[in-house]
Amino acid sequence: AKIRIYQLAKELEMSNDELLKILDDMGVTYKSHASTLEEDTALAVKELIGEQKVAEAARKAEEARKSIPHRPPVVVIMGHVDHGKTSLLDYLRKSRIAEKEAGGITQHVGAFEVKTPGGTVVFIDTPGHEAFTTIRQRGAKVADIAVIVIAATEGVMPQTKEAIAHAKASGAKIIFAANKMDLPGADINKVYQDLMQLGLVPVAYGGDVEVLPISAKTGQGVADLLETILLMAELEDLRADPKAEAQGVILEARVDKQAGVLASLLVQQGTLRIGDYVVAGECWGKIKAMSDAEGNRRTEAGPGSAVQVLGFSELPSAGDTFTWVPDQVAAKEITEERIEERKASEARGDLQRARSLADLMRKAQQDEQKEINLILRADTQGSLEAIQNILAKEATEEVKINVLLAAVGAPTESDVLLASTAHGAILAFSVNPSGSVKKAAEQKGVPLQSFRIIYELIDEIRKMVKGQREPVY
Ligand code: GDP
Repeated sequence: AKIRIYQLAKELEMSNDELLKILDDMGVTYKSHASTLEEDTALAVKELIGEQKVAEAARKAEEARKSIPHRPPVVVIMGHVDHGKTSLLDYLRKSRIAEKEAGGITQHVGAFEVKTPGGTVVFIDTPGHEAFTTIRQRGAKVADIAVIVIAATEGVMPQTKEAIAHAKASGAKIIFAANKMDLPGADINKVYQDLMQLGLVPVAYGGDVEVLPISAKTGQGVADLLETILLMAELEDLRADPKAEAQGVILEARVDKQAGVLASLLVQQGTLRIGDYVVAGECWGKIKAMSDAEGNRRTEAGPGSAVQVLGFSELPSAGDTFTWVPDQVAAKEITEERIEERKASEARGDLQRARSLADLMRKAQQDEQKEINLILRADTQGSLEAIQNILAKEATEEVKINVLLAAVGAPTESDVLLASTAHGAILAFSVNPSGSVKKAAEQKGVPLQSFRIIYELIDEIRKMVKGQREPVY
């Protein structure tokens, strides 16, 4: 229908003059703001205004984002046992202290900073993926980048593959450090080739996978590693607002006989200050004291800072997120609510999550993207390959089969954590999970099934993919 200019202006919440200006720009002629516009013209104006508003909103959002300062990347070090994770952390820690010349007073607060001319990097002070995945499992994303250490004297080993699977599942970017390059037996080409076998093409071979030669013993290449971390962080454009309400993740917590509950936490957003109230899971606290990795007392801690704090009422769990709350009333109310919710859900039996592959499949079928995440364990590399080949054929348009990890040997507790994080299942062929692994799987509601005959395993998958399998209770 036709509409008068002043009516349209009102509808678009703008002044008559503003609208007249837009009409001028569009080349529309009129006598006054009382003139009528054709329906098409009115529609064109509305579209234009709509586009302008959307563009304006996007510009403002981008501006707001750009005004938020950068934050340091948070890095976790993973890799096979004895490949040099602890040595690398030690080297980084030492180089940091040497710079400060203040002398070696350090305190374990779960993470430490390394300052370089190119920027600061925060390292999680616990090597290995178990700690990392425990934290992840509770939903917090901690590490932006995973440095996976591979001894160049040995190449890729079983836990290297596990580390890759864990890092990928968490969405962290990966950098490989070919370690022990100071030893005569070191061969970086072996590391390259092993990675190629996993479908990871190193930069040296024309791919985009960073592999840096280092020695955690002599420190050779460590500066380059730090530089690569910072470059990668720059591409990720990591930002955090120091003015926001403080938020982050609990890295560790313990009870000290004298001091009480000591919690190490990493601030991810905002600034935490003495006197602030925070909640973490079902615990709350009033920050009474804070200290950093140098043992310095702190009155505040901004994004990227790891500090040890005093003031939690009870022991929070590693991996819980903490958030700022305005006061004790809010702190108590929120934690009480959480406790009640948990109790109610326990009473309803919600915690008994997917127990069988069929349950998992039914869940996948409810989702838009039907995806089954699997961890495969088998007695030999040959069986693994056979299983994977058949699996590849079983996947259909509708159902994607994602193999997070395919490894020789019995399933481990770390597999259970990985499966639990990724809402996946563990299939074991001709290997027996230990009692403790079975128990962990049960506790976490991770489906774990063992097979002795390859066709039973395949049959199971086939039925699941086709959705023919009746749920088993
Ligand atoms: P982790 O199990 O991955 O934490 O490995 P460690 O850091 O404990 O290292 C295992 C062994 O390798 C130790 O004896 C280290 O001294 C040694 N090591 C680690 N990195 C290097 C290195 O770059 N060069 C040499 N020569 N030895 C190393």
